[in-house]
Amino acid sequence: MSISPLMPVYPRCGVRPVRGEHCHLIDEDGTRYLDFASGIAVNLLGHSHEGLISAIQKQAETLMHVSNLYGSPQGEKLARQLVDATFADTVFFTNSGAEAVETAIKTARAYHQHEGDTSKFELITFANAFHGRTMATISASNQEKMHHGFSPLLAGFKYAEFDNLESAKALMGPNTAGFLVEPIQGEGGIRPASQEFMQGLRALADEHDLMLVLDEVQSGVARTGKMYAHEHYGIAPDIMATAKGIGGGFPLGACLATEKAARGMTFGTHGSTYGGNPLAMAAGSAVMEAVANDEFLASVAEKGERLRSRLEQFIGNYPELFELVRGKGLMLGMKMKVESRPFFVHLRDNHQLLTVAAGDNTLRVLPPLVLGDAEIEEFFEKLSAGAASYEVPGDG
Ligand SMILES: *Cc1c(COP(=O)(O)O)cnc(C)c1O
Repeated sequence: MSISPLMPVYPRCGVRPVRGEHCHLIDEDGTRYLDFASGIAVNLLGHSHEGLISAIQKQAETLMHVSNLYGSPQGEKLARQLVDATFADTVFFTNSGAEAVETAIKTARAYHQHEGDTSKFELITFANAFHGRTMATISASNQEKMHHGFSPLLAGFKYAEFDNLESAKALMGPNTAGFLVEPIQGEGGIRPASQEFMQGLRALADEHDLMLVLDEVQSGVARTGKMYAHEHYGIAPDIMATAKGIGGGFPLGACLATEKAARGMTFGTHGSTYGGNPLAMAAGSAVMEAVANDEFLASVAEKGERLRSRLEQFIGNYPELFELVRGKGLMLGMKMKVESRPFFVHLRDNHQLLTVAAGDNTLRVLPPLVLGDAEIEEFFEKLSAGAASYEVPGDG
């Protein structure tokens, strides 16, 4: 047998973390890495946050799982925290981002079909989007590398150009149920949508009674210096998927909706065995307690601005390597002029700095939101050393 016991769908690297301390990961052999990847925008409180650990420990000792057949004081608490902090009136809990987007897709379809209009099932989505790896969520993306081997895709998705309102308008028709969009594309390369685009989608949805569905799985939960990135645009969605940061590292996602948008999600229409289990709810509540306040959000915005302006200065020293810096808060990307992936590997393997590669030749900078001055200094030391020692592969 030559297949590995772990199904070989990930090209895993040589870093094998066994422990986390605040903004660092420690490898099997004791090597310390500065973690500006945060498990891909997940560990927003870092790796050893006392409040999060004790909330999980306490809940694990008390009650870990019960069925959704019973009442859920823990779920009511976290749903209330989310409703209080957002546009939403109601919340469905999932275990992952893809499930949260799935729920959002079902909610948007059910909004129309609940009233008997079965023609409106199509969501207009956007080029280079990432919505997860289930059949519906890969069907919602135009990225062929995620489709290969899995056809037929699910019907009901049309792909418009990202950040191009005219392109979205051109795809609208009698079957259109709504729009599904990341306000800031994450995997696509930290590409923030423009103000005009987001407000334009909101206006189109209002005008035609369509659902504006936001995928804030990566951009949400204080990452950009607001609770959710759409707040930067002065708009609110009808339906929104959140996950990644919401559990601080514990698997948790949610689909949020207004009362109106959720009209099709009635008794028996949807469910999840694990979704909303007390352990996940305790983790989510601890995260919300830490981040859903003006002081914390302001600190993220301030650190984001500081990191960004220093990055902009820094790339000026290496105009042959870097093109620009983009993003909001602590969701930042450095678009490179040379191939970004080998540079990301160089930073990781030669300078013990963890970042995340993304589309559009972009290096993602996604530190834990609790980082301090010391970690910012360490980041620039490693990044500077990495850029100074970098030899672009294939240049001879
Ligand atoms: C990560 C991500 C997902 C999928 O989340 P999973 O928890 O991996 O299923 C969906 N949408 C966006 C924008 C993401 O970044």
